[in-house]
Amino acid sequence: MTSTVTLENSHSIYDQLSASLSQIRSAYSKDPDTSYDTRISRLKRLHTALLEYKDRLITAVNQDFSNRASAETMMAEILPVLEGIRYNKKHLRKWMRQSTRHTPMMLLGAKTKVHYQPLGVIGIVVPWNFPIFLGLSPLVGAFAAGNRAMIKTSEFAPQTGLVLEEMLNKHFAAEEVMVVNGGVEVASEFTRLAFDHIVFTGSTQVGRIVMRAAAENLTPVTLELGGKSPAIIHDSFPIEEAAKRIAFGKGLNAGQVCVSPDYILVPKNKVAAFARAFTEQFSTHYPTLRDNPDYTAIITERQRDRLLDNLNDAREKGATVEVINPANENFDGTRKLPMHLVTETTSDMRVMQEEIFGPILPIIGYDSLEDAIHYVNDRDRPLALYYFDWDNRRGEKILRQTHSGGVCINEVMTHTMVDDMPFGGVGPSGMGHYHGKEGFLNFSKAKGVVIKGKLDANSLIGAPWNNKYFNFFVNFQLRRFKKF
Ligand code: NAD
Repeated sequence: MTSTVTLENSHSIYDQLSASLSQIRSAYSKDPDTSYDTRISRLKRLHTALLEYKDRLITAVNQDFSNRASAETMMAEILPVLEGIRYNKKHLRKWMRQSTRHTPMMLLGAKTKVHYQPLGVIGIVVPWNFPIFLGLSPLVGAFAAGNRAMIKTSEFAPQTGLVLEEMLNKHFAAEEVMVVNGGVEVASEFTRLAFDHIVFTGSTQVGRIVMRAAAENLTPVTLELGGKSPAIIHDSFPIEEAAKRIAFGKGLNAGQVCVSPDYILVPKNKVAAFARAFTEQFSTHYPTLRDNPDYTAIITERQRDRLLDNLNDAREKGATVEVINPANENFDGTRKLPMHLVTETTSDMRVMQEEIFGPILPIIGYDSLEDAIHYVNDRDRPLALYYFDWDNRRGEKILRQTHSGGVCINEVMTHTMVDDMPFGGVGPSGMGHYHGKEGFLNFSKAKGVVIKGKLDANSLIGAPWNNKYFNFFVNFQLRRFKKF
C-alpha cells in the first residue's frame, strides 16, 4: 500500500499534489456510494493502527516538543481519537439512514426525504499543538461520512508527521487517505487544491489565507481557529477552587492549547488571592519544571521567543509579571518556559491583544459581572468561555449574553472531549462544526429528494392557470393561511 506524496523537485508541488488528489477522487468516483461496511472497516483499521502505533506516536510527539508529557499525549490525543471512533461506530447506521421529511400540500401525492451522501475527498490541515488528534479526529468524521482524505501535517511536528504517514500507509490504501508532509509552501499549495471540503485547524491569520485559497474553487471550509478564551470567576465562587480547576487546564501542554484559558476575569479585590491560589496549585502539579517530564516544553525556539517578547512588552508597558518557578531553576538551553502571571495589564499590551498560546496568564480585575460580560463582548468572539459560579441562573445569563465556540461552567476545556456535542468556533475563532453527529453532517451532503407518485396534481392545476382546480387550490391554501 502506498499513501505518501513524495514531493520531487522535477514537478511543481501543486502538480504533484493535484495528481494525488485526482488519484483519490477517481477511486471515489468509481465507488461514490460508500457502504456502511466500508466506513466501519476504515474506522476499525484506524482503531487498530492507533493501538499499534500509540507508543511510537507518543515518542514522536515527545521528540517534536523536545519534551511532551506522555500522559498528555495519551489523554489529549490518543484516547479522544479512540473515543471518537467508538462513538461514530455506535451511531453511524442511524446517522446514515435517509430521513423522511414533511411534504407540503403544494406537492400533494409526493414523498420527501433527505439523503446523506459523502462529499468526496476532504483536505485536512493540521497544526503542531495536537498533531495526532487534530489530524485523526477530522479523519474519523470524514471516514464516517464515507469520504476519503488527504492530510497535511504540521512542519513543526515533523517526527509525528512521519509516524502518521507510516501508520496510515500500512493500514490504508493510497486511494483512501494520503499523508502530505512538508513546509508552508506545501501547505499553501495543498489548500489551493479543489477538495470537496477543507478542514483547517490553525491560527485565525492563516485561516483567512486558507479561506481565500478555497474560495477560488468554491471549496467549503471548516475553520477551527484560535482566539482569547476568557475565564470569568463570580465573586461568590471559592477562589481556591477556581484556581485549582483552572491550573489543571492551563498547565496542560504548557498552555499551548486552542481552548486554554487565555485570561482570567476576577472581582478586583480577588486578583492577588487568585494569583496566590493559582501559584500554589500549579506548584503542586509541577514542583520542578526544567527536567520534569510532566511539564511540556515550548514547541520551537521561535515560539518561546515570541512568548518572552510578549512578556517584555507587558513589563515595558507597566504590567507586573510573576514567574511561577517552584524550584527556582534556570531554563537556559531548554525550550521549557515556566508559568507567568501578569497583572496590571492594559489593552495595548500584546498579551491582551494576541492569543497567548503558552504559559502566560493575565489576571484582570472587574467591578461587576456586567463589566466582565461587557469586557468579553467588546472583543473578538472567543473559541471557549469559562464561567465559575454555583448559581445556575447566572450561568444561563452568561450563556445567553456572550458568544463563544463552546462553554464550560465551573470547568475548563473538557467540552472538547464530548463527542455528543458539536465543536467549533464563531466569528474570528472559526466556522463550522465537527465531532459526533455534527461531524457526520459537516462531511456529508444533505441532499433533499422529492419522489412523485402516480398522482400528478400538476396535470390538473397547471397552465392555463385560470382553471377551476387551480382556483380551488389557491382558495383552499389562502384559507389555511388566514391565521398566523
Ligand atoms: P498555523 O496557522 O501557523 O498553521 C496551521 C497549519 O497551517 C500548518 O499545517 C501549516 O503548515 C499550515 N499553513 C501555514 N501557512 C499556510 C498558508 N499560507 N496556507 C495554507 N496553510 C498554511 O497554526 P499553528 O501555529 O500550527 O497552531 C496554532 C494555532 O492553531 C493557534 O491559533 C490555535 O488556537 C489554533 N488551534 C485551533 C484549534 C481548534 O480546534 N480550534 C486546535 C488547535 C490549535
